[in-house]
Amino acid sequence: MGFRHLIGAALAVVCMAGTASAEKLAKQYFGAQRDGSAQKAAAYGSYAKGCAAGLVQMPETGPTWQSMRLSRNRNWGHPDLIDFSVKLSRVAVKQGWKGLYFGDFSQPRGGPMLTGHRSHQLGLDADIWMNPVGRVNLNRNQRENISAISMRRAGGAFVNDKWTRAHHEILKAAASDPRVARIFVFPGAKVQMCKDEKARSKRKRAWLRKIRPWWGHHYHFHVRLSCPKGSRGCVDQAPPPPGDGCADAQQWVNNILNPPPPPKNPPKATAKKRGELRLADLPKACVGVLNSK
Ligand SMILES: [Zn+2]
Repeated sequence: MGFRHLIGAALAVVCMAGTASAEKLAKQYFGAQRDGSAQKAAAYGSYAKGCAAGLVQMPETGPTWQSMRLSRNRNWGHPDLIDFSVKLSRVAVKQGWKGLYFGDFSQPRGGPMLTGHRSHQLGLDADIWMNPVGRVNLNRNQRENISAISMRRAGGAFVNDKWTRAHHEILKAAASDPRVARIFVFPGAKVQMCKDEKARSKRKRAWLRKIRPWWGHHYHFHVRLSCPKGSRGCVDQAPPPPGDGCADAQQWVNNILNPPPPPKNPPKATAKKRGELRLADLPKACVGVLNSK
């Protein structure tokens, strides 16, 4: 290779690097949105790689709920998610609470976020605080500052003494809604719910299948709706394995209490570092969502 070729190759590399770093990330576009798009409600893509049209803002305060951390502007959802959340807050009232505190839903047009979650991109995910709500008249400032309450002990192997039957009933009602695909909660909570659900028939325990043990999720539980009916371009996650999932949750707990020895020949770290999403990685419809009024 002659000298000129070398220079040319070097320049090409520099230029490619230049364009790559200059290209805005998808989260920068979506994180800058202030309002939902004036489009029919629709989700495009998958929970961790997509966006959403026609999202609706959860009213900041209602008779039986409050949205928390308003400064984040992440209280936007598909109309089904808003409807689901309002109804669930009434279940909480039946359990003796004043309602529910809602954490992050989605950004106004969904999409990747500048900080935090990987999912919550379709307007179909909601974080709901575990606090037994005693008042729904917190001011803006209080909603920035009060803390969510953890329900776990022993690293998530068990619930602590803050956990109540009301939690069981609220999560059960959530999981029983046919629109819900799964609910993420720490393993100790799932095992507790498995024990407290006295019904033995498969049909009556079916809701437990949707309660999925997961890391974190002891300050809040995370509800994920399935793709709404007729929402073409929305990609559902594979359903949870059949059965109530109680044995798997117990196994997870056992592993927290008695961690298995590390494998003798650990597999080489082959997992690629997850690249940052660019607009071109999202469904084409997401450009339309960004450009819409
Ligand atoms: Zn979440």
